[in-house]
Amino acid sequence: SERRVLEIRIMGYGTGQFLLIARDITRVRQLESMRKDFVANVSHELKTPLTVLQGYLEMMQEMAEPGSPNTKAMDQMQQQTHRMRSMVEQLLVLSRIEDSAENNLEVKVNMSQMMCILTEEAEALSLGQHDLNFTCAADCHLYGIEIELRSACSNLISNAIRYTPPGGKIDVSWKKVASGAMFTVADTGDGIASQHIGRLTERFYRVDSARTRQKGGTGLGLAITKHALSHHQSELMISSELGEGSEFSFLIPEHLVSTSYH
Ligand code: ADP
Repeated sequence: SERRVLEIRIMGYGTGQFLLIARDITRVRQLESMRKDFVANVSHELKTPLTVLQGYLEMMQEMAEPGSPNTKAMDQMQQQTHRMRSMVEQLLVLSRIEDSAENNLEVKVNMSQMMCILTEEAEALSLGQHDLNFTCAADCHLYGIEIELRSACSNLISNAIRYTPPGGKIDVSWKKVASGAMFTVADTGDGIASQHIGRLTERFYRVDSARTRQKGGTGLGLAITKHALSHHQSELMISSELGEGSEFSFLIPEHLVSTSYH
């Protein structure tokens, strides 16, 4: 027969009495898994037509008379298809991350090396408009999933760049602390009002969708980060003040930090 999924909660009253609540969540789980499959399939199916559209648009742009009214329309179309492609790609990344049940945390990941790549990526995004500072303890190695750790870090850095006006400062660091290794991205940018902070890691949640759409976001970056971190027994910590800046950080627990890293 069908396997049922139960959620069991035990509440203690401190008087030696306990209340046990069991809920059958089989159906909830089924719906959740259908949603995930649907999103993954749709994203996958959208990839090909988008690539074809982009290809033809590029061709038309090359053939268009410079300055003709069509060029502006084509630029817009190119921008929007590009945006749609990023969203589709991000959705695929998210569904892959949500799905990966086996967490192989045996592989040693060289975070110092990753920091070099992240630095280059950040410079290319910022185009010299921000004061970028990267610090990484020498020989920083973690046990984990490289691609997930990388997208967690890279999403936080690209957000800091996108939500910090030119002239602002962005500090990125990997530090060894008593309970593990800490990654921090601090910016002097827009900041986030406190009522939004708790919801930022929800899919498609954005503080100001008109503004963030302009900045080329998909609303999926922090959802991906959250899942990637949960695979590493870690959580995203956010502190921010509107107009002052934000700090995003996470702690990778000690048992996932390579002992050769001091
Ligand atoms: P997006 O693709 O829209 O950036 P994210 O999931 O990465 O999606 O972020 C969700 C929202 O959180 C953003 O739309 C933005 O409003 C807010 N946000 C994220 N990082 C920062 C930051 N460093 N400073 C200010 N706001 C931020």
